[in-house]
Amino acid sequence: MIYMFCIECGSDNKQMIGEICIDCFLKDFKMIEIPENINVEICSHCNSRLEEGKWHESFIPEEEIIYRALERNIQINDLVENEEINLEIEQMKGTIADCYVEVVGEVYGVSINETHDISVRILKTVCPTCSKLQAGYYEAVIQFRADSREIKKEEYEKADEVVARTLDKQSKVDKLAYCPQIAKLKEGYDYYIGSLKTGRKVAEALKEEFGGVIKESPRLISEDKSTGKGLYRIWISIRIPEFEISDIVKYDNKIIQVTDIDKNRVVGTDIKTDKKHNIPLKNMADIKLVKKSSDIETTTIISMSPKIIQILDPSDYSAVDLERKNCFSDYNIGDEIKIIKIENYIYLIK
Ligand SMILES: [Zn+2]
Ligand SMILES: [Zn+2]
Repeated sequence: MIYMFCIECGSDNKQMIGEICIDCFLKDFKMIEIPENINVEICSHCNSRLEEGKWHESFIPEEEIIYRALERNIQINDLVENEEINLEIEQMKGTIADCYVEVVGEVYGVSINETHDISVRILKTVCPTCSKLQAGYYEAVIQFRADSREIKKEEYEKADEVVARTLDKQSKVDKLAYCPQIAKLKEGYDYYIGSLKTGRKVAEALKEEFGGVIKESPRLISEDKSTGKGLYRIWISIRIPEFEISDIVKYDNKIIQVTDIDKNRVVGTDIKTDKKHNIPLKNMADIKLVKKSSDIETTTIISMSPKIIQILDPSDYSAVDLERKNCFSDYNIGDEIKIIKIENYIYLIK
C-alpha cells in the first residue's frame, strides 16, 4: 500500500519516506551517533593510552588523544552522503574537555547540519607495564658470581654498567626491560629483571664482558588453577672465572699464563714452551688457578750462557740456574726478570 500523504503531519505534497514525509522523517533523524560522555584512559607514568582494550605506547599530545577518542566514538548513519565532520575542543576543565562536533551532510538529497556537545574525560591510570614495574614484578634473577673468589669493586662497577647498557638497549623492544631491584649479597649481586627475554640478554652481556659460564634454573612460583600451567621464574647464574688476566693456570697438564678472557675462550701462553693456547670457556671447570699475578716476583740476572740464565732466588738469595729459552735471547746480565714459583720450581716469565 502506498501512502500519498504523511501519517504524521498529513501533508500530501512532499517527498515521502515510507509512511511519513521527509520533514517528519528528518525531525528525529540523527546523522551520527556519539556518546555524550567519553572516557579515555592514559597511563600517568609512561603516557601510553588505552584504545579499544589495548595499550598503545607512542606518545601523542593530549589534544590529539581527545580528537582520536571523538573520531573513534562516531557512528555515521548509512543514509548520510557527502558528510563532513568538524571536531573542536571548546575548553578544558581540568581533565575534562568540552567538545563540539558539527556534521554537514545530505540525506535523501536534503542538506542538513547537526551539532553535538560531548565531554571527553581523561582518566589518569596506570598501565599494566607500569603497574608491574611498581609492584616490583620480575621474571628473571641474574646472579653475578665469581668462581671460588670474591668479586672486586671494579668488577661490580663494570657489571652495573653492562646491566644498565643492556636494559637501555632492550627498552626499545621490550616494555619489561627494567631492573626493579639489585640485591647486594656477600657472594655477589642479584639483578632482578622484568622479563626473561631481557634477563637472558643481560646474562649474555655479562658473559661477553667477563667470560664465564651461564646456568639457568627455573623455579615454580605458582600454578594457574584454570590452565594447570605453572608460573616460573628463572634464576640465571653467570659465574665468572676465578682466574684473571696475567694469572697462572693449569689446564691439561700445561702451566699457562692467561693473556685474555673473552666470552668463549681463555687465551694464554704455556710458560714452559712459550706456545699460545686457546681454551674453550665451557671447559672452565678444568682450568685450575695455580698462582695469582700478584705472586709473580722480580729478580736480577746474575750470570748467563747461551743455554742457561742464572738468577737470584729472592726468598733465600741463592743462585739458581734456569734453562734459557729463545724468548729470553735479548736479556743481559744485570737485567731484571720476572719469575714465578710453582711447586718448588722457578719459571721465567716474559
Ligand atoms: Zn509529515
Ligand atoms: Zn605506563
